[in-house]
Amino acid sequence: MSSVAQTEKVIFQQEWGQVLAQSLRSSQQLLAELDLQVTDFPEGLSEALQFPLFVPRPFVKRMRKGDPCDPLLLQVLPLAAEEQLHSGFTLDPLAEQSTNVQAGLIHKYHGRVLLLAASGCAINCRYCFRRHFPYSENRVARGQWQPALTYIAQDPSITEVILSGGDPLMLQDEHLAELVERIAQIPHVQRLRVHSRLPVVIAERLTDQLTHILTGTRLRSSLVLHVNHPRELTPMHAERLGKLRQAGVTLLNQTVLLKGVNDSAEVLIELSEKLFDHHLLPYYLHVLDRVQGAQHFDLSSSEAYGLYQQMLAQLPGYLVPKLVREEAGQPHKTPLHAF
Ligand SMILES: *Cc1c(COP(=O)(O)O)cnc(C)c1O
Ligand code: SF4
Repeated sequence: MSSVAQTEKVIFQQEWGQVLAQSLRSSQQLLAELDLQVTDFPEGLSEALQFPLFVPRPFVKRMRKGDPCDPLLLQVLPLAAEEQLHSGFTLDPLAEQSTNVQAGLIHKYHGRVLLLAASGCAINCRYCFRRHFPYSENRVARGQWQPALTYIAQDPSITEVILSGGDPLMLQDEHLAELVERIAQIPHVQRLRVHSRLPVVIAERLTDQLTHILTGTRLRSSLVLHVNHPRELTPMHAERLGKLRQAGVTLLNQTVLLKGVNDSAEVLIELSEKLFDHHLLPYYLHVLDRVQGAQHFDLSSSEAYGLYQQMLAQLPGYLVPKLVREEAGQPHKTPLHAF
């Protein structure tokens, strides 16, 4: 059996791999599931050939049937608005290509590096700032981790390694375990962080083995999920995240502020409270990166700040995420201020 076939066999033996394999891959299929017609979208849909629709069924189940404005649907459905060009919305808004210090490694901030451990995602989010990023050139394939690990080993200022992607949890557990062990062998690295949206869309990805991997070395681990709307969370999340927390993994969440999806104080406050119920603390609330194709999700800075002020006024401090934007060339995420 070829190694690709072997890999697929292993992934599909996992429950989450089977769920992933049954994902929807066309707008037509998705609209049919939701009892919607193309004519329910008066401005039309996009073919989105370069960044096609891709959405797992458990996420579709959380959408409301017959509602063309459903906040989960809007995150995955390619609308014709994506095809309009707007000044200021570019292909590489974060200038990440210039901080790519090694294949698959981004070293932009002091003390921490992003290791792009997997190229794919379990969902294609229309607002994604990586939608034009040259993933395939930048993924560190298994067996090619050494140059990135050597770079980290040679810079003692790096104390945290962040696994990113794509989505790092697209790696099967065995490969993830091997990577984490090799990172743990670098003495000055103290912390491991995993940023992922996969378990949000497929909660089955939160396996017991994942818990073992995140707690099985001397590294202190955190898992940062990317939940944008309260309806994305389910009882299975609460149960499985509870196990991770009991094992000692710090659980955080980051959200992207998206017009039509979560741009109301009511939804954001409900999200913070629901995150806490599901063992997650809100970490960042990101203003949208100005990537070509995502302009229809954009809010002005003053609208964003207004929502943030309402959160401050109504939530305990620990349930208010930091409102930030990412600016090319800045040494950290930039907090938004009042005007
Ligand atoms: C966001 C980000 C980090 C992590 O930043 P924190 O503020 O520590 O969460 C690291 N590297 C890059 C390139 C980032 O974009
Ligand atoms: S999961 Fe994250 S990286 Fe992947 S498409 Fe969505 S926003 Fe982008």
